[in-house]
Amino acid sequence: MAKNKYIEQSLEAWHPILYQEIKKEDELLEAQRQFEEEAKELESSLEHKYMVGLEYCGWLPETTLQEKRLKKQVQACYPYCCFNHQAGLPKRKYRDQETNEEREGEPVELYEYEHRMVKNYETHAYYAQNKIRGAGATEILAVRHMAYKYAVVNRIEGRKYLLAAGVNRSVAVGVFRRIVVLLKPFPFIYKIIPNSLNPTVLLFRGGGEAKALSAHPDAARGEENVGDVLLDEASAWELVDDEPVLKAYEPFVAKSGAHIGVFGTPKGQRGFYWTKIFDPELPRTKYYKHLVTLQEVKNVPIPIIDVAEAERLRLEDPDLYAQEFGNQFILPSLSIFGSEFPVGEHRAEF
Ligand SMILES: [Zn+2]
Repeated sequence: MAKNKYIEQSLEAWHPILYQEIKKEDELLEAQRQFEEEAKELESSLEHKYMVGLEYCGWLPETTLQEKRLKKQVQACYPYCCFNHQAGLPKRKYRDQETNEEREGEPVELYEYEHRMVKNYETHAYYAQNKIRGAGATEILAVRHMAYKYAVVNRIEGRKYLLAAGVNRSVAVGVFRRIVVLLKPFPFIYKIIPNSLNPTVLLFRGGGEAKALSAHPDAARGEENVGDVLLDEASAWELVDDEPVLKAYEPFVAKSGAHIGVFGTPKGQRGFYWTKIFDPELPRTKYYKHLVTLQEVKNVPIPIIDVAEAERLRLEDPDLYAQEFGNQFILPSLSIFGSEFPVGEHRAEF
């Protein structure tokens, strides 16, 4: 904004819309400046400027004596034992009973079922996950594993991670914002410091790139050197016909050796998530199907889901429970959708 008070005042009087736009732009610039300043300060308090090349020390094997000894030695280097401890563990979210606000609780270690998500994803070109609500696939795969893969270990110039998480790009941008927060103390890993409020693209020093896209058939047109495509919450996209989106993203597997990961919690027998992958009557699907169940998510020291809430739902609404916590594809007539899907609710913007 103009430094001159007189110019500013007359702009406000004569062009109120332009004035508001410039003011908003100023506020965004100020927020970005503050972000970069805080990141620099965090960076200056680091012992050294490098990222640990191991993803998570807790996932190291410990069957033989030698493995046990090695794991102990690695873990003695905490917090420089692994990427996840260096960047900081995820925190359990909970609702404050009195104020009803969402709060962050204590940090939670990563579990073996989360390790299976990463391993199964990396060992299959076509990977599909049917998860219970709140199982943490976005945090583990779309945020942490991809941050590790593209910001820390990738050395291929221009190798890309594409994320589509909803019909609007803003959903994927929201996921990227979590990567930006996670990596805030380590600005040295970027080629260009990302826009902290609207990180549509992330450019890392090692050559890796991440792009937030929409679930639209044209969104990925022209992309090259793609290494990973994640389609998050694909069962819940509000599209009349979502197959063109899948058809637009799948060719990256053949073109550049990408992995494609589709994940969601069942939402009726509809969309490619059902018709191309999870319908048991399909003669075949090229997707490796990975079920993440309530049993494995709750049988850990500190579950990331609210187990009591799941139990309440089981008693109050068994159909909805089967869908949200039982990995079941409930027919519309049996579930929350009523006798049929309301037209318009799943309509796309295009
Ligand atoms: Zn560690």
